[in-house]
Amino acid sequence: MKRNIFLAFLLFWMGLFTASAHTVEEHARIPAHGFAVMAEGGEFQPYTFSRHAVGDNEIQIEILYAGICHSDLHHVASDWGKEEYPLVPGHEIVGRVVKIGKNVTKFKVGDIAGVGCLVNACGECEFCLMGLEQYCPNRVLTYHDHDKYHDNEQTQGGYSDTLVVSQNFAIKVPENADIEKIAPLLCAGITTWSPIHYMNVKKGDKIGIAGFGGLGHMAVKYAVALGAEVTVFDITEAKREDAKRMGAVRYVNVTNPEELNGLDNSLNYVLSTVPAKYDPAMYMKMLKINGQMAIVGLPAIKNMPSISVLSFVIHGNRKVFGSQIGGIKETQEMLDYSVAHNLYPEVEVIKADAAAINEAYKKVQAGEVKFRYVIDMKTLKHAD
Ligand SMILES: [Zn+2]
Ligand SMILES: [Zn+2]
Repeated sequence: MKRNIFLAFLLFWMGLFTASAHTVEEHARIPAHGFAVMAEGGEFQPYTFSRHAVGDNEIQIEILYAGICHSDLHHVASDWGKEEYPLVPGHEIVGRVVKIGKNVTKFKVGDIAGVGCLVNACGECEFCLMGLEQYCPNRVLTYHDHDKYHDNEQTQGGYSDTLVVSQNFAIKVPENADIEKIAPLLCAGITTWSPIHYMNVKKGDKIGIAGFGGLGHMAVKYAVALGAEVTVFDITEAKREDAKRMGAVRYVNVTNPEELNGLDNSLNYVLSTVPAKYDPAMYMKMLKINGQMAIVGLPAIKNMPSISVLSFVIHGNRKVFGSQIGGIKETQEMLDYSVAHNLYPEVEVIKADAAAINEAYKKVQAGEVKFRYVIDMKTLKHAD
């Protein structure tokens, strides 16, 4: 009898010990390896940090690919205000689910998931309830933010090997998708898809796409798929043939003023993706009456264009508005549509190597990438 009591006690304590060991393991932070810049405008170097443990409603993904968005360059350079360093950019992410929290139903281990600019939001405010989580005052951005739902930790992005995210903010990626091309859809894709649908662009409409880079080329593909007549505007000759190949009816090199002749009052819509100094009024003038112009490109503060009130009055009864990425439901719709219709970004895959990323940044800055760099995070090598 005594022996049985002793055994029962022993088992009880062993149970407690394993339970607590288990708890410690569950709450331990997850090591992460990637690339960071250590100061404003710095170059990338290997960087080791950690992610918070996987919560009950969260998933952990092993990152397979991360896109290089022009916004990443702006954050690295503190172009939109002082950033916090070390900074790991990356908000175009695709990866494989390696762990799920106990309440997760949307994903199972082994699924492919995408993550864009958002990793969380309140879920209760008017914006969240409308599916516009990107405007939630308590949203959490994938990087260059603090996570109010996790001890206000600094968030770090996708130029890394692993990420923990709420299941509600991860996008399901079909197994038959072309995985190496998926990542840019999570920012470049949704940022152009959302205003094109908000403006209700349809077959036969004339739309101008200003800026023909990572965002612009996705805008061209979506507008062409809808049957719109697309005019592309950029500042180089090097992309003229690409625009035609993607289905644009016209390519305008805005550095040749004669190419702009006859374009005033000719377009139903304009979508501006330009990330550098330019004159938005030039495009406003091209709108027909009741035309709409959406602005998604955001130049550095020092190069920020402005539109005079005079322009609005002179070119009256046209609407000009801005747009930020898109909500989660809309992002899922964009991704499903893109995969089903074979509408992928054109990517150049580079190795997960600091020198390769630094080189890619120079090319993006010079407008020389066709059309998006994607870092193959599977090629990351680290010492520990
Ligand atoms: Zn972006
Ligand atoms: Zn909210």
